[in-house]
Amino acid sequence: MISNSKGSIMRPDPLPDSASRPVATPLSPSVVYASDTPDMLDAQYEGDLHGYTYSREGHPNADVVAQAIDRMEGAPHMGVVTSSGMAAVSAVLLGLTQAGDHVIGGNQLYGRSLRMMTEDLPRLGVQTTMVDPGDVDAVRAAIRPETKLILVEVVSNPTLRVADILGLSALARETGVLLVVDNTFTTPRGFRAFDHGADIVIHSVTKLLAGHSDVMLGYVAARDEALNDRLRVFTVTTGMTPSPFDCWLAERGMLSFALRFDRAQSTAETLATHLAGLEGVKRVIYPSRHDHPDHLRAQALLKGQYCNMVSFEINGSREAANALARGAEGLSFAPTLGDVGTTISHPASSSHRALTPEKRAELGMSEGFFRVSVGLEEPQALCDVFTAAIQAATG
Ligand SMILES: *Cc1c(COP(=O)(O)O)cnc(C)c1O
Repeated sequence: MISNSKGSIMRPDPLPDSASRPVATPLSPSVVYASDTPDMLDAQYEGDLHGYTYSREGHPNADVVAQAIDRMEGAPHMGVVTSSGMAAVSAVLLGLTQAGDHVIGGNQLYGRSLRMMTEDLPRLGVQTTMVDPGDVDAVRAAIRPETKLILVEVVSNPTLRVADILGLSALARETGVLLVVDNTFTTPRGFRAFDHGADIVIHSVTKLLAGHSDVMLGYVAARDEALNDRLRVFTVTTGMTPSPFDCWLAERGMLSFALRFDRAQSTAETLATHLAGLEGVKRVIYPSRHDHPDHLRAQALLKGQYCNMVSFEINGSREAANALARGAEGLSFAPTLGDVGTTISHPASSSHRALTPEKRAELGMSEGFFRVSVGLEEPQALCDVFTAAIQAATG
């Protein structure tokens, strides 16, 4: 360390030496990393020596998060952590396509992904087609010689339809089109997409993986090493790099991910059964239920881990919906999912507000339609809150 009695700023060595090591991962906010010599830096850039240089290019806290998700997903190469889930979606859609290409997307993708498919890709000369990912014949019919990739979610938002991933992966292999799976809802605990034939896996780490609504992060990994490298280079070039602090928080959240997921999805099943028995509830959507349109497919794909999302519909207009949101004491009415606390969202006023009421009705999303992201509350207490809120709205 250089000391200066006049108080001008001299950087000390970062950490005092210690023979023992920290148990929790240290936070490394440093933007730059000093190498000993030009030869050493050269070897780092050549990849002969592992070492960080500039944090947009990579940093330890991002790599710790990437490796944790890699292990859960069974990713063959180290995935890329991005500053949001949408950055991961953008890396795939913008980083792997060029003008003249064609891309197919599930017709019930996350709102912003849908928007990128329908607004941004066409502007850049990439044609897109949105198709029901539960209908492999329809997807097959949409494939053209210039089709590059198919982007789907396993369980759709908010109607919880289940994509025919096995059919799609067989089709993708047969036609040489890349199958990209956004695994945010199902998580690697519910569904390991690479094991089911996905070529690329995307996550909004913001949701269940980080789990505390205090971090925004994404993840993307490709089975093919060259594609994986292209995704990394694109995210570095476009500055989609995550902050070390966000990665540090996400890692902390992920330590309890498996426990949180198991608890939330078991409570979700309890809540779905409870809601179905309540006066004033028109229908309940949860993939484990026998009346779910994709029940058998969900059973085969999700192996009993049906996710923590439950949707339901009550009779009534916006007034009833307002009364329900007000009456759900202790729960947040918020357009997100995967938090430790249960959150309720209302597609007609949020994610699907841009659609006409007729189009929403076609999708089954009336003013009385709600989506619940089940959290970690005591299951009976949670059921009681819903009983009271639905009574307030319909009673
Ligand atoms: C939230 C979400 C995204 C976008 O992630 P952000 O971290 O909010 O950018 C993408 N896909 C799905 C399925 C999501 O739920």
